[in-house]
Amino acid sequence: MKGMILVIDGLGDRPVKELSNQTPLQKAKTPNLDKMAENGINGIMDSIAPGIRPGSDTAHIAILGYDPYTVYTGRGPFEASGVGLDIKAGDVAFRCNFSTVNDDFIVTDRRAGRIKEDTSSLIEKLNKMTIEGYKDIEIIFKESTGHRAVLVLRGDGLSDEISDADPKIVGKPPKTVYPTNNSHDGEKTADLLNKIIKESYKILKTHPLNLDRIKNNEPPANIIIPRGVGLVPEVEELNKKYGINSACIAETGLIMGIARFAGMDIIEVEGSTGSVDTNLDNFIDTILNTVNNTNHDFLLVNIKGADESGHDGHAKEKMEFIEKIDDVVFSKVSQLQDIVTIVTADHSTPIAVKDHSADPVPILIYGESVRVDDVKRFNEIDSVKGGLLRLKGSDLMNILMDLIDNTHKFGA
Ligand code: ZN
Ligand code: ZN
Repeated sequence: MKGMILVIDGLGDRPVKELSNQTPLQKAKTPNLDKMAENGINGIMDSIAPGIRPGSDTAHIAILGYDPYTVYTGRGPFEASGVGLDIKAGDVAFRCNFSTVNDDFIVTDRRAGRIKEDTSSLIEKLNKMTIEGYKDIEIIFKESTGHRAVLVLRGDGLSDEISDADPKIVGKPPKTVYPTNNSHDGEKTADLLNKIIKESYKILKTHPLNLDRIKNNEPPANIIIPRGVGLVPEVEELNKKYGINSACIAETGLIMGIARFAGMDIIEVEGSTGSVDTNLDNFIDTILNTVNNTNHDFLLVNIKGADESGHDGHAKEKMEFIEKIDDVVFSKVSQLQDIVTIVTADHSTPIAVKDHSADPVPILIYGESVRVDDVKRFNEIDSVKGGLLRLKGSDLMNILMDLIDNTHKFGA
């Protein structure tokens, strides 16, 4: 028996006026999800706890059975893991922007004109950087998409108890980083980071790619500005923790980063965009192929588009995307054999809020021998009457492992 958690990112919502005071999921025609609800057990879930507004990252950490309050030290480690860097416990990681500063070191564009060129040649030069007095610290950069990059510092005596360098607005210089506690490690890491930022400007300002950009009247990517610091924590691999062989199918680097961090295999979907125009046909083909033709027995899936519609405040778009997922993905997921499937969301992204909210999300469990309750429709309101009542994200793995008979008795 296999298990799958399928997360529809940002699915939950609140009543929307233009949808006759229903949520996008309530209003959407979802015959396949409803069939799964009718033949499964339903409830609602707080991915972290009631009243806590989750990020996608912290929600997924909780859903995978980890404590986000100890595992999540900042976004940097998961971004770094998401671009494929093999991070280690004790590393200090940042997400970075390539930005533009003028000759007075004032930021004139935080995203370097949303640079489209491949920045790997810039990264190559940055990775040759050494800082006087810190020869024992490895400085590792890696490019991400567009103006984004990551930075990992590896060595003894590093700390994530430091402030942010990003001034967040143009017209100011990068902020001087300082330790947020009185530790020697914080002081050392802050000093090193300040030097790395200055050195990045020295290295990048004369780089041929930037000289070309200046010639073309485009802002040069002439400085690296790190933010989102986090200390890479020690974490037990998901496979060991649950005795499984796990894989993740996701669209965004952030979710892939969490999965890679947990030691899961990453399976990419061709044509996935992380948006409502993503290739759902390829998505379901990848899911079916992984379930039917690989020896992975646990699968985490994240489909992103509904969250984006929520952030943009596009009610109809969110509803239509939900209908499309139901038609393309759940028409087939509902027919899978020898698998227990959990369908839920990582958080709500209400149209009215245009951001994540703490509203609990609907959850259903579907599969052979799963108890069946009276709920007939999958949405925020009907699910409340189901047999699962109100769960926390951290309950999911335990429940799923029990249903696929992959747990041991606690006691005699
Ligand atoms: Zn999310
Ligand atoms: Zn979001």
